[in-house]
Amino acid sequence: MGEADRRLAFFTETDGAVSVVAKAARRSRKRFGGALQKYFLLEVAWTEEPRRMPILTSTSILVSFWDIVADWDRVRYADYLLELASSLFPQSGHKTKAFAFLLAGFRSLSGGETPASVGRKAEAAFLSLGGWGPELSGCHRCGRAESGSFRFVVSEGRLYCLACSGKDGHPLSLGAVRTWRALQASSPATIGRVRIPETILEELQMVIPKYLEWNLGVGLRSLSVDSEGRKP
Ligand SMILES: [Zn+2]
Repeated sequence: MGEADRRLAFFTETDGAVSVVAKAARRSRKRFGGALQKYFLLEVAWTEEPRRMPILTSTSILVSFWDIVADWDRVRYADYLLELASSLFPQSGHKTKAFAFLLAGFRSLSGGETPASVGRKAEAAFLSLGGWGPELSGCHRCGRAESGSFRFVVSEGRLYCLACSGKDGHPLSLGAVRTWRALQASSPATIGRVRIPETILEELQMVIPKYLEWNLGVGLRSLSVDSEGRKP
């Protein structure tokens, strides 16, 4: 890489996470325009050669989500969504649905939805899409689908009703379980319309990020959820 070159990372619909070199990007900002900043939906093209990093050849801006930068919390969550998509779906090849969920998240952030709500939705959708579940149809022991409250055991990815659970796991109200089920069943086109009441958002906040990090086996940098699940 030359001194004026820049390495850029994209999450793409056709190839998932892609790193490319933008040649002479530092000298010619006009050439790659929006590609040099974050929070744009872009049309990008690159060339590939064996054993070399792909070279960016053209970019054009399709949609700007630049208004996200006006709010620090939205910026954190926008970075988080990108990190999530790249971490959960690192293989190359078509990522049509993951890309569509990512784009839906950006539209919601840009449209003013509470960042924490956008974050939980993306986590639930990506987990479900990637095959991590979790299994939320009912109590793992007795099968009850409706219980006033459940406990969710992160290391199992399973629910237990109060009668069957010990002290393990995190409490989840029936409302929170139903909301999580609705998010799992959502499509990129419908997920933006799911409304999560504040109290349920707080419950899900304590559970979904932990379950996600447990599955990944590593912490995610953008929000740095601590071991108590506090404070994204
Ligand atoms: Zn039970």
